[in-house]
This record gives sequence, C-alpha cells and structure tokens, in this order.
Amino acid sequence: MNTRNQGDQLILALSKGRIFEDTLPLLAAAGITVLENPETSRKLILPTNDPAVRVLIVRATDVPTYVQHGAADFGVAGKDVLLEHGGEGLYQPVDLNIACCRMSVAVNAGFDYDNAVRQGARLRVATKFVHTAREHFARKGVHVDLIKLYGSMELAPLVGLSDAIVDVVSTGGTLRANNLVEVEKIMDISSRLVVNQAALKLKRERLQPIIEAFQNASKQQG
Ligand code: AMP
Repeated sequence: MNTRNQGDQLILALSKGRIFEDTLPLLAAAGITVLENPETSRKLILPTNDPAVRVLIVRATDVPTYVQHGAADFGVAGKDVLLEHGGEGLYQPVDLNIACCRMSVAVNAGFDYDNAVRQGARLRVATKFVHTAREHFARKGVHVDLIKLYGSMELAPLVGLSDAIVDVVSTGGTLRANNLVEVEKIMDISSRLVVNQAALKLKRERLQPIIEAFQNASKQQG
C-alpha cells in the first residue's frame, strides 16, 4: 500500500482513546466508517469504507504536526495540544465540542496555594503544557520554575519534584486518587477539527462536505 498522501486521497490524523471514540459519530455523519479498531489492531493506517479516505493513528501531541506538514490533510486535536503546538499552518474551522475537559492547577491537599501566591513565593510547577502554564502564571504575575514532564504529572508533587502541576482534568478522579486538589481552572478544553491549509485549497471539493458534516453533527451534540 502506498502510504504517501496523494492528490486523490484524504488522510485524517486521530489519536487513540477518547478523541477517536468521539470522532466516530462525526465521521458517520460524513458517511465514513473506520473499518478497524485501533485498540485491537496494530495497524497505524486504518482503512475506511471509502477507499480514498484513510485514518492515521498518531499520538495526540503529534496530530498538529502531521497536519501542518501535509502528511495528513486533516485531524482532530485538543485545544491543550494546539496551544502547545502553536497552530502554524493549520486552519481550525470547527470546535467539535468533544473530549471536553479543563486545564487546571493542582497541588498536594496540604499545600496552601493561595497563600503561597499571596506571599509571592516562587513555585515549582510540573507540566507537559509549558507554554500554557507559562502564559497563565505570567498573566497572574506569579514567578514559576517550570519542569517539563511527558506523563503522569500527578506524581510530581507527591514526591517533592514540584509544588504544583498544570494538567487536564476531566472527572477529577485521578487527582483525588493521588490526594491532589484542583486549585485553579486555567481554561476549558475541547477538541477541534484542524485542516492543512494547502489541502483545503487543493482538495476543497472532497474536504468541504466533510467539514460541513462535522460542523452540523457537532452542533447537534453540543
Ligand atoms: P480524570 O481522572 O477523569 O480527571 O482524568 C484525568 C486524566 O485523564 C489526566 O491524567 C488527563 O491527562 C487525562 N484526560 C482526561 N480527559 C482528557 C482529555 N479530554 N484530553 C486529554 N487527556 C485527558
């Protein structure tokens, strides 16, 4: 199978898990069915019922990069991921209102965050969202040392690596299970459709109906 993105093909980049699951009904609204389940298949390029449409399974943080460089024509990515990426080369026509959660600051249950901020303490903050965290604390005028992590941020305050974390929170269950408390919401997060800007021009006839179907289906959901 030729895996290069060619003119007659449409390639969609998705990450496994919640974004994949929540995108399936939107694809269905556009008449597209993914023929394999990424949780059980080891394939990284999944066929759909339309031979001209294929789905790349990539890490959530890599979705904007594949789309930016045109290896995928379009994709679905969280606002958290897009803010870190910067969004260059990406057209973001639709907030899909899926995979909703929030980006928050959390600390150990015993840590008096408000007092530390009032006192002007320099906080050590562990996060994988360094760009968003830097902007948030700069806006508040709080001095922070950011510690970049790639996973399990919740561990950092437990072992004294940081005073606080910035992470995405959905039910709050993970924070509670680790005796952490959410002390500040930075922003609401949802996932967006992202489209390669060149593909939007060159493949508009194929892409436009899919964008519209996603738009209508996500409005009905939201
Ligand atoms: P929860 O325990 O439901 O608050 O989920 C929190 C954990 O799931 C965190 O470790 C997050 O990294 C991850 N998570 C939850 N929702 C999302 C989402 N919409 N996008 C990315 N990660 C999420």
